[in-house]
Amino acid sequence: MAQLDKTPFEHLAGFHMDRRTFIKAAAAAGLVAAAGGGCRPAAAGSNAKGRIVIIGGGAAGISMAARLARHLKHAEITLIDPADRQFYQPGFTLIAAGVYTPDQVHRRQADCMPKGVKWVKQAVVALDPAQNKVTVAGGGVFAYDFLVLTPGLQLNWEKVEGLSQKTLGQGNVHSIYDFEGAQKTWPALQAFVKTGGRGIFTDTHTKLKCGGAPKKICLLTEHLARKAGTRDHVKIDYVSAGHELYDVPYFTPRLEAIYKERAIDVSLNVRVKGVDTAAKKVYFNKVEKVKRDQPDPQTGKLVTVEETVTTPFTEEYDFLHLVPPQSAPDFVRQAGLGWTEGKLAADAWAMVDKATLVHLKYPNIVCLGDAAGIPTSKTSAAVRRQVPVAARNLIALLEGKAPAAKYDGYAACPIITDYGHVLLCEFDYDKKPRSSFPFSLLDTSKELWPAWLLKVYVLKPLYFYGMLPGYC
Ligand SMILES: Cc1cc2nc3c(=O)[nH]c(=O)nc-3n(C[C@H](O)[C@H](O)[C@H](O)COP(=O)(O)OP(=O)(O)OC[C@H]3O[C@@H](n4cnc5c(N)ncnc54)[C@H](O)[C@@H]3O)c2cc1C
Repeated sequence: MAQLDKTPFEHLAGFHMDRRTFIKAAAAAGLVAAAGGGCRPAAAGSNAKGRIVIIGGGAAGISMAARLARHLKHAEITLIDPADRQFYQPGFTLIAAGVYTPDQVHRRQADCMPKGVKWVKQAVVALDPAQNKVTVAGGGVFAYDFLVLTPGLQLNWEKVEGLSQKTLGQGNVHSIYDFEGAQKTWPALQAFVKTGGRGIFTDTHTKLKCGGAPKKICLLTEHLARKAGTRDHVKIDYVSAGHELYDVPYFTPRLEAIYKERAIDVSLNVRVKGVDTAAKKVYFNKVEKVKRDQPDPQTGKLVTVEETVTTPFTEEYDFLHLVPPQSAPDFVRQAGLGWTEGKLAADAWAMVDKATLVHLKYPNIVCLGDAAGIPTSKTSAAVRRQVPVAARNLIALLEGKAPAAKYDGYAACPIITDYGHVLLCEFDYDKKPRSSFPFSLLDTSKELWPAWLLKVYVLKPLYFYGMLPGYC
């Protein structure tokens, strides 16, 4: 396979845009205005009073706090989060691919905290929604009138036998779902494409944040091998627990074609069971639903029954990328806030109305972001559209009105297909394409160079300076 040259902008990858440059660039490009209406104020100011507690100050929690603080001058807003740093997690993929340096993806949490918000730097350990009380590590108790539930999700590393967050890197097992893990991935990928061998890239069977991320690091590795001139010595497998490579029909055909063109073997319906880092072996289960005919015990007539067949198998690897199974945080499950039936129950995703984001059992709780049990893709792009809706609805509740704002399921997952191109997947609850950036003249069902520029240079400053302060 031919070695590819650097893209014209590749040398700019380390370019770090500060707030002032971002505002100028965004204004010039019209990107903020064009970001699909997300840049409007949440609501008019309100004189409503009440105690609001926000659990979690990531993408969703800080953005909510900023909007609420601006519009509710008489409310008491407390945000509980133990983290020192605010991470732009989409940047983890770019760290692992050598495009960003680690210090480009985080800021001090103190610098992100909106004015007028009281920050409690503790982790929530228990929540009593019947009594409207939150308990933090150390025993402090906080009472609320309204709760914003935005703790993100829990990465359950130990659910893969032989895997732990602390041992990432050992036996060449890597994961970009961790800040340190992403940093270890980049030198390991460079060594892997140099020496060659077999690279296996997996996802997980649970709902996961940014379902495109494992695909991105797989495709970037393949391109890295071509750039290094070693593609012929590298075999790459993408092993997915899903029934298909991607489930948004507008984008799936092109993504499947890319995997085919680039000779990446795709296996579907396969779950990771465990890993032996010393032997460099990964244990899988192929989980398939099969139909067969059998006699009905009462009538004796042949009836078709569906059953799940699990077939274990083992593969050897030289480089392995794993994704931990994911769930709502334990305290959400223990508080009884998760779904009790349906596909979202097993991992206790919070039981909220998918349009209003108000909890279905406790109407004084709104939940958004990764913890929310709604059928959208868990991305910060989705959070950006959920925040104005959740903020409006919370203000309405505070004012004693019905929540009327509605979220349409918008999510985006820019799938980086190589160093220089991105398939800008944007869609809604109905999996219909929803273009929010000014690419309407281009065919967005294909990978695009302008989308790479957006991904690498615009989305991170948009996160820190547009979304977190509650403007976008
Ligand atoms: C590798 C990777 C690639 C990604 N790529 C993309 C992408 O390309 N595009 C995209 O849009 N999204 C992407 N995402 C997803 C995106 O980062 C998340 O969807 C988004 O951050 C979710 O926001 P959140 O506020 O719900 O959770 P988070 O941003 O994770 O914030 C949760 C916050 O809650 C706090 N918290 C946790 N537990 C507690 C507790 N018990 N008490 C108090 N506070 C607590 C945490 O400290 C944290 O600050 C990616 C994520 C990863 C990991």
